[in-house]
This record gives sequence, structure tokens and C-alpha cells, in this order.
Amino acid sequence: MDKFDILKEYFGYESFRNGQQKMIDGILEGRDCLGIMPTGSGKSLCFQIPAMLLNGTTIAISPLISLMRDQINSLNQCGIPAVCINSTISEYETVEIYQKARAGAYKIIYVAPERLLNPRFLNLCNDLTIPLVAVDEAHCVSQWGQNFRPSYLDIPKFVQTAQRRPVVAAFTATATEAVKRDIIRILALQSPLTVMTGYDRPNLYFEVRKPDDKDAELLKVLKNRSGSTIVYCMTKRTTEDVHRMLLINNISAGLYHGGLSAEERSAAQEDFIFDRVNVMVATNAFGMGIDKSNVSLVIHYNMPLDLESYYQEAGRAGRDGSNARCIMLYSPSDIKMARYLIERSGSAGASEKEREKLQKCAVTRLHSIIDYCKSKKCLRANILNYFGENTKSSCGNCSNCIKGEKLEDITIEAQKILSCIFRVNRNELNADIEEICKILHGDAADDRFRGLSTYGIMSETLLHRIGQIAQFLSTEGYFEACKPNGHCILTDKSDEFIKSGSTLMMRVKRDPGKKSDKMADIPNPELFERLSRLRKELADSLGIPAYVVFHNSSLIGMCAILPTNIDEFLRVEGVGILKAERYGRKFLSEIVEYLNTRPKSD
Ligand code: ADP
Ligand code: MG
Repeated sequence: MDKFDILKEYFGYESFRNGQQKMIDGILEGRDCLGIMPTGSGKSLCFQIPAMLLNGTTIAISPLISLMRDQINSLNQCGIPAVCINSTISEYETVEIYQKARAGAYKIIYVAPERLLNPRFLNLCNDLTIPLVAVDEAHCVSQWGQNFRPSYLDIPKFVQTAQRRPVVAAFTATATEAVKRDIIRILALQSPLTVMTGYDRPNLYFEVRKPDDKDAELLKVLKNRSGSTIVYCMTKRTTEDVHRMLLINNISAGLYHGGLSAEERSAAQEDFIFDRVNVMVATNAFGMGIDKSNVSLVIHYNMPLDLESYYQEAGRAGRDGSNARCIMLYSPSDIKMARYLIERSGSAGASEKEREKLQKCAVTRLHSIIDYCKSKKCLRANILNYFGENTKSSCGNCSNCIKGEKLEDITIEAQKILSCIFRVNRNELNADIEEICKILHGDAADDRFRGLSTYGIMSETLLHRIGQIAQFLSTEGYFEACKPNGHCILTDKSDEFIKSGSTLMMRVKRDPGKKSDKMADIPNPELFERLSRLRKELADSLGIPAYVVFHNSSLIGMCAILPTNIDEFLRVEGVGILKAERYGRKFLSEIVEYLNTRPKSD
């Protein structure tokens, strides 16, 4: 088996994403590695695949116990033997896990950094062959960034205890130059292969709003949501106020902050992960390392303390690659609050001088996010420049770039309109743009048009909209209106467009009252609903979150490919051999039933 087989057979993916192969190859060659890749880019796979190929058991260090479980669930669903050792597991189970680990039953063991130097754990590691230590969220090792975690400093000591030094691979999503240097130095990486993929997350839409009334604005945004939503607030107190406000307005929402008991937090988190509530109001304590792939909206009720935190938190949206929105509700009082929090902050035990230095760093970082909130230019470019990337000055997918507009796929409509013009001309009939629209809509005054095969093929579309698209095509040079009567004729550009089968997008004004149109992008949306229901049933019966069974992107793939046998099913992204064996029959029969019962459209 090689890395491609594992990718396909266990994870069900066709190809590697940017940076993954380089990291995997580096690790397999025995080199230390540092992967700096944005949230959702697939860092886990970079150590999970080598773990499967290397002899022995990989140790994966991850900062939050409760969230490791999620990774374990996903791995076990793919047929990869992995386990996590943590304090929530009973003594009885722990004994069993240690025994199995010694017998070589696991390819990956997840642990929190606090456990690394625990004698019992060290003893176990002594008995294992450990080819690789993977450090997830490696920025936790640096005091200069956000999320410093003192026990991350134990990692190099742990690595030293091994008889044969394992490869050390570190991963993070947010590393500025200073943090990057810290990771290499503190983890003592040996001439590491550093892989930096771009920070850009093209599927995320960024927006800053400056509302007078944040609550009213929040309610407005939440009204148009689809899928899971996180609302981040700066303080515990604010999360509680916002949470209460949502409940009063009949929006069922969960609450998560550091002041709740461990049970309350894990219950809230589970409700969210298992889609029992789909809005979570939380402080930044929520979500580090969480792999809930179907979060489609992240709202910041307050401005966070720096752009690193913002990008990381906002980046929890759209991990499955589908379009998602990140909206910041900013007000100048957020700055006051931030300053206050920074002044009060300071690591326990730090000297006065160190504290001053830390605060200075924090204030510098604060300026970066204030700048983001006030920027009138491309928001994406603002973020990417901050991380040292040069980008185009306009991304077309943030509030500053589109100012009340959005991009719409008009490929099909354009094909119909152009093909109508083609047919009118071939039949030696002449029509101006208005007539073309009426022919398509099926209400042309002239009887001669009625015999055309394109007559009425857009009867379901508003005449106004057909006109809008036709006008766009004319302006863009796909056809010309000839003088003196404005008869339409096609240009070479339209010929090329039809032959190449490429997609055509048009900017349109956003209709503020309109519901989110995410479902409109999904082929066979009814089937999607059915498959989602089936997924939920299966997940509930197994006690795992729905997205661990299949991601939304896999369900969308099924709706597009419409597989009716296992071979076709395996072509869907995210379907590996084990999942096909486990779930294939049920999903296929749902699809076949759908195909048999849906009304024939053509
Ligand atoms: P990160 O840790 O970088 O934030 P994850 O490792 O959690 O990201 O991966 C994010 C999502 O992308 C996961 O659901 C994962 O299954 C998916 N993924 C990873 N690699 C690929 C790939 N090569 N093709 C398709 N999906 C992938
Ligand atoms: Mg990760």
C-alpha cells in the first residue's frame, strides 16, 4: 500500500490537496516537518497517512481532550485504528487501551500535552515503536501568539525520552514569522521541511458590519442562515446576554464558555456537534481543533483581540469546502473592551518586564484587527497581507469587494439564450433582444417563432430575469445587436463558450429579503434532504455526529453523480472502501428509490 491507496481506500479522496503530499513525503523520508496551512486545509491527513505507512504507533499531541474524540471517531469510521488516552476514560478502559497499545493495536494514539511526562504513559511509550510525533496546533508553544499552553513546552522533553528519536512534525494554521521561529526553536525541530500553503480560503465570504444595534443585526443575520452557526463573543457575560436574547427571540441556541462546568460544556458541544442545536454562542474557548465540517456561518458579536484569532475562529466555517460566511459585527466600544482586557492580562508567574513585553505585542496585534474592521479595501487581501502574502487587491468575495452584489452561476440560462439566438438566425428569422426574451419565455407576439425548439424553454423564469441575463451577455460581447433594428447575432466569443462548456458567472444585486440560496446550488435538492435524513438516522443509531458518517460535500457528490452501484458510489468524494461497505447499500437504495419516484422532467 502507498499513500495514494490509503487516501483513496481509507479516506475516500481522489487527490491530495495543496501541500499534503510534500508533508507526507517529508515525514516518510524521516525529516522533521513544519506545516503551516490554513484551517480546513487537511493538516490531519499529513500525519495520519504516514502513521498508517510507518512501522509502529504515532503519537499525536492535541490541545483539547474533548475534541480529540472527534478525530478518533472519524478515523475509526474510515477503518483506521486510533485511540485517545485521557482523563475522561475510566481506569478499566485505560488498562485495556494500554494492553492493546502494547500489542500494537493502534496506528495512532492521541494525547493531551499534560500527559506526556506522566510516568505511566512514558512507560507505555518505552514499550512502543514510535516513528512519528505529530504536534497539532503547534502555535500553542509560543508565548507571543494567542493560545499559549505551558505544557506544550514538555514536548521536546518527551521526544528526548525515546530510545530512537522519532520524526517530529508540527502543524498550525496561524503562524506569523515570530511564532514560526518559536515553534522550530522550542520544539527543537531538526532542519525541518517547512511547507506553507497559501492562507487563502476562497470558499469563505468575509464581511464587516457596523450596526447601531448589534442584537437586531444578529437576529437579521441569523434569520438567513442555513446549517450550523457559531456566534463568538468576547466575554462570558456577553455570551450569556446574547444567548438569553436569542432564546427570547425563539432561536434555539447552545452556550459555551470557560465558566461553565465541564459537563455543561461537553453537553453543549455535543448538542452542537450532533446537530441538535445549530446555533452556538461561545467565547473563544469553544472550537479549537474542532472538526465540525458543516459550519456555514461564523459571526463575531465582538471584535476579537487580533487578526490571528479572528482568522482562526472564522476559519471554522466551511471546512468541508462548501461556501460559508464570516461576519463581524464591529463597534468602536469593542476597542475599549479589548484594551481593557489586554491591560488586565498577563501570564501567571511572568516578571513585570515580561508582562510589559507581552502586552506590547498584544497592542500591536490589536491594531491589525482594528485596521481590518475599518478597512474600505478588500478584506481578504487585508488578512492575507497580514500573514505576509501578496494578493490581488480585489477578491470578489468579501463585503468591500462586492458592496451589495453577489456572483451567480448563469451558465444554463446563458446557453439557452445563445442557443435561441442561434436558432432564430438559422431559420432566417430576425429578432431583437426583447423578442428573444419573449421567445424563451413563451409569449412572443409573432407566430413564426412558435415552431422553434427553444420556444418557451424558459417559461418558468421571470421575463425580467431573462432580460437581465440577456443584457449581461450582450454587454459582455456574447452577441451583438445589429443596426438598424437591433437584430441579434452571435459572436465568436459565444461559440467558444458553448464549445468549452465553461461556467459563466454574473454579478447581481443582493436581495436583502431573500433567504439564503445555498440549497439552490445543490443538484437534486430533494435527494439531498433524503440522504441527510438517512445520514442522521445512521449517525444517531451509532452515536456519532452526522458529518462523521459523511460530509455534506459527499452527499452533494451523491446528488450530482447519482450512483446506482458500489463502483459508482466509490467515485464520490469522501467515500472510502470501509464507508462504502458500511453504508453503500443503504445510500444506494435511497438514491435508486429517488430515481424511480421522481417526476420525469425531460
Ligand atoms: P485542518 O486540521 O487543516 O484544519 P482537517 O485535517 O481537519 O483540517 O481537514 C479538514 C477537512 O478536509 C476534513 O474533513 C478532511 O477529511 C478533509 N480533507 C482532508 N484532505 C482532503 C483531501 N485530500 N481531499 C478531500 N478532503 C480532504
Ligand atoms: Mg487540525
